[in-house]
Amino acid sequence: MTSPSILTCPHCQAKNRVQAVPEGEVPACARCGQKLPWLHDGTDESFAQDTRASVPVLVDFWAPWCGPCRVIGPVLEQIARDHAGRVRIVKVNVDENPRTPSEFGVQGIPTLIIFRDGQLADRIVGAAPRATIEQKLFPPGA
Ligand SMILES: [Zn+2]
Repeated sequence: MTSPSILTCPHCQAKNRVQAVPEGEVPACARCGQKLPWLHDGTDESFAQDTRASVPVLVDFWAPWCGPCRVIGPVLEQIARDHAGRVRIVKVNVDENPRTPSEFGVQGIPTLIIFRDGQLADRIVGAAPRATIEQKLFPPGA
């Protein structure tokens, strides 16, 4: 079960309620048709579904009390906006969702895990610079 998330269109400011996105598709704005920055919260319950997408999925394991997480949050929002239609970003609060981080051996936060085709592809521990995150998400030649 996925809770509906509200994605704001950066082009026309329309608020789009996005629930299930059909397989192989990315969310687009209902008003102007532009691809939406796909960034939303994930939970233990929704995790399997959250990490399935036709684009790379980056999971941000974070918590409100974590200073470096507050640094990386806005960076991820920029990446979602600048690469709309090419990436899905899922934010998992580790305090509210302890099962998934333990399953993936997350020792500290922030930890970013990248999934391709539902498979774990890469992992970044700590607050990495934007360029590093983008390189891992979109490796040259991929
Ligand atoms: Zn729009």
